[in-house]
Amino acid sequence: MNVYSKIRASLSVRNQGRLTKFLVNSGIKPTVNKAAKSPFEKGIVIFSADFEMAWAFSFSKTKQKEAIEKGLSERKNVPVILDLFEKYNIPVTWATVGHLFLSQCIRGVNGLAHPEMPRPGFFENRNWNFSSGDWYQHDSCTDVKSDPAWYASDLIDRIIASKTNHEIGCHTFSHIDFTYKNCPKSLADAEIDACIKLAADKGIKLNSMVFPGGTFGNYESLKERGFTCYRKPMRYHIDLPYVDSHGMVAIPSSLGLDKDPYGWTKEFHLKMIRNYLIKAAKYKLVCHFWFHPSMDKWYLENLMPEVLKMVADYRSSGKIEVKTMSKLAEEVVGNR
Ligand SMILES: [Zn+2]
Ligand SMILES: [Zn+2]
Repeated sequence: MNVYSKIRASLSVRNQGRLTKFLVNSGIKPTVNKAAKSPFEKGIVIFSADFEMAWAFSFSKTKQKEAIEKGLSERKNVPVILDLFEKYNIPVTWATVGHLFLSQCIRGVNGLAHPEMPRPGFFENRNWNFSSGDWYQHDSCTDVKSDPAWYASDLIDRIIASKTNHEIGCHTFSHIDFTYKNCPKSLADAEIDACIKLAADKGIKLNSMVFPGGTFGNYESLKERGFTCYRKPMRYHIDLPYVDSHGMVAIPSSLGLDKDPYGWTKEFHLKMIRNYLIKAAKYKLVCHFWFHPSMDKWYLENLMPEVLKMVADYRSSGKIEVKTMSKLAEEVVGNR
């Protein structure tokens, strides 16, 4: 934790909101890597979505009870999100939990879900606590009709069928903690191999990774399987991607899009997002917006249409380009 994070964590939620508002209004946030030498001709905007349905919340310390509800709101929101992004022809990198490629699954003879998959040992991290039973204990082992929060083959088909050229990326098979500490290499390999196989059945090659809950690790497993990039928070909100020691491209993460807990107005949200675009354009760096498709209805209905219109307007005025994660990674490697 740096000094700023320590100060921020000591504040009440209300005052955290006030602090961020002050930083945005005074032009401090977003921060920019002004020393970076950009190889790009324009600012680059990226959108990625953590597409995970109920899987993300199975062992959540705070949201486990909301798992199904979250899954069902993703199911409801994805078609709306697809229509919106198609309207402005803005592509998204959908970092997808591998199990969502399925439309059904069945229990093994030993009574366990996915007996072919290795399991993590018990662990606790910042967000999750897996301390008893089987890792797949919440898997219904039914189908999309009976348990629509756990399967999404139909939604993935809609993403693929969109007129906008979206990318399908990876978010592990079962939304696992991917750190070296909690995920041995054999488990990391098996999780990614399962995703690769299911994606290939739909004609998709996986190139981009979003680590579940920011559990960075097991880069070797990704590199060996042809992945080219991943999303990672960097020192600055608006920053430059870099090629890591494995030869993969680390792409900055700039801002999560959703309703805030501070009571901010729509106008303030738009002002903040405009500041991100202005700085990305000015310094020709990367601005990476990410979101959960389960996002709040208020944000989806009131903010997203205007955010996408703003991005599309910036693009048509020639100030920025919009790319998927893997397209950006190709360009970064090509520029070297
Ligand atoms: Zn299953
Ligand atoms: Zn996730």
